[in-house]
Amino acid sequence: MKYNLSKIRSKSAYTPKEASALLEVNRKTIFRWIKGGLSLLDPKQKPRLIMGKDLKAFIKAKREATQVKLRPNEYYCLVCRKPVEGKHGTQKVEKTGKKIGKLNRDQEILYAKCKECGGKIARLL
Ligand SMILES: [Zn+2]
Repeated sequence: MKYNLSKIRSKSAYTPKEASALLEVNRKTIFRWIKGGLSLLDPKQKPRLIMGKDLKAFIKAKREATQVKLRPNEYYCLVCRKPVEGKHGTQKVEKTGKKIGKLNRDQEILYAKCKECGGKIARLL
């Protein structure tokens, strides 16, 4: 997936709704990114705000992540910028709500915490 990063201003803060409109993605995608490690300006604040520079960095790191081969127990940590293992006991699986492949199976996403930095990590199954 290609995102148009030129519309994002580094020093502006965006709500998930604004970010989804700018990038032409579903708002659920933005929430999934937040769960997967996209940082918020203030995690306790509602509505949630994302700094443009964090959004850009997250998308760039995601791009790098797709070029890295991961072993079954590995995740790509967007903070460490390398494949890492999940911290023991932090893994959890969730359905994304999408159906994939010829068998129309449920797409699942695995969340965990990075063993090295403790940051949120995620990978699609
Ligand atoms: Zn990490």
